[in-house]
Amino acid sequence: MQETSRFRFDEAAHQWFYVDGDAQWRSLPTGRNTSCPCDSGLKAKRCCARD
Ligand SMILES: [Zn+2]
Repeated sequence: MQETSRFRFDEAAHQWFYVDGDAQWRSLPTGRNTSCPCDSGLKAKRCCARD
């Protein structure tokens, strides 16, 4: 078992994806300039979407 981020930003699609309980990637209706979906309070590009 390994703990990985449940969120990632697909640069090609310019779209967020998250992993649901079945480990399937699903899209999120947010961009990297909006708040990160992990509730850190940071902009996505400063958090899970950072390079
Ligand atoms: Zn984050």
